Formats: sequence, structure tokens, C-alpha cells
Amino acid sequence: MNLEEKSQEVRKVFEELDLEIKSFLDASKLPCISGCGFCCSNPQVSASVLEFLPLAFDLYAKGKAEKALDILEKTPEEGSCIVYKSLSEDGHSGFCSDYNNRGMICRLFGSSARKNKNGQKEIITCKKIKTEKNEFYTNAVEAIQSNMPVPSSTDAYRKINNIDFRLTERQLPINKAIKEAIESVITFKFYTENQEPESVDNF
Ligand code: SF4
Repeated sequence: MNLEEKSQEVRKVFEELDLEIKSFLDASKLPCISGCGFCCSNPQVSASVLEFLPLAFDLYAKGKAEKALDILEKTPEEGSCIVYKSLSEDGHSGFCSDYNNRGMICRLFGSSARKNKNGQKEIITCKKIKTEKNEFYTNAVEAIQSNMPVPSSTDAYRKINNIDFRLTERQLPINKAIKEAIESVITFKFYTENQEPESVDNF
């Protein structure tokens, strides 16, 4: 599989996951608080290169890859995600400016569960949801132990690990992951788009 095919496979995983997430959020009534960008403004978010290949290919297709790299060069590696657009002074209100191309971590946080050490499913979410939507949160915690389907973060990561383990094993600060994804796409496109067919004239 070449890099573009891997990106398409990641997108397929995202599309399937988005359906599961929608069912869970509809049933649990636990979508994010409107206008909240607290998680995206967190500089500690980490991600893999593979989960940002769809974003990187899309930026390339729109002629925005080099500009994104310029922005990344000027942004501290440990800063908050460059895709995030803050609307408040403290940075905690805002929105993702490329929601369709957000990474795996962005999709799973607040919308999935993992097993704790007692083997029980626990929802991966933030303090704000736990407090401001406490009743819905408490109900969902109970419901996922019995019959409410919830996306599994472990399964989701296993699926993308299977596409390319090397591009998922390193968890990087989110801007570094985006930067490496864009650089990989530019290199890939350079070699695939400039390849001349072999002929005697090429010698
Ligand atoms: S890609 Fe979008 S959802 Fe993910 S951290 Fe950045 S701004 Fe937030």
C-alpha cells in the first residue's frame, strides 16, 4: 500500500467510527458543550502521523500544504493544535477549522470507552462533561455496562495500527504529528508526480 492508499484506508476507519460515535452520542446525549474548545486548546494533545494523513492529503489537494508548513514552523511544537481556532482570550472557546479531517484522538475523546483495570468500560471524556452534563454522564456510565453500544478506543487504534504500525507507534505532540504528515505527503507527491516513464531517452 502506498501512502495515499494508507490515507484512504484511515479515512474508511474514520467513516465507520463516525457512524458508531453518532449512535452513541445520540443515545447518551453526551455531545460536547456547544462552543467549548477546552480539549483542542490543550497543548498536551498527542497523536500519530498516520491519523493526520487525510488532513495532509486534503491540504495538499487544496494547495495549502506549504502554507500549513509555514504556520507550523512558526508555532511552538508544544503549542495547541494549529487547526484550532480560538474565539476567547483564554483560548477555551473555539472550534476545529477542519472537522472532517480531524485526527483519531479528536474523534475518540468524549465519544468512546476503554476498559479499566476491573474490566469495566469507562467513558473517555472531560471534567466539564462529567460535571455540566452529570445526569446524562451517570446514565451513560451505567448503560454502557449493559446494552448501550459505545465505540471502543482500543478497537479503533487497533484498526489504524493494522494499516501502518510504523506510522502509529510514535505518539507526538499534535502539531509535530501534523507537520510530519504534511512533509510525508509532499515527499510522496514529489516522487509520484515527477516520475517519468522509463525510456531510452531518460539515460
Ligand atoms: S484537529 Fe481539530 S478537533 Fe483535533 S485537536 Fe485540532 S482543532 Fe481539535
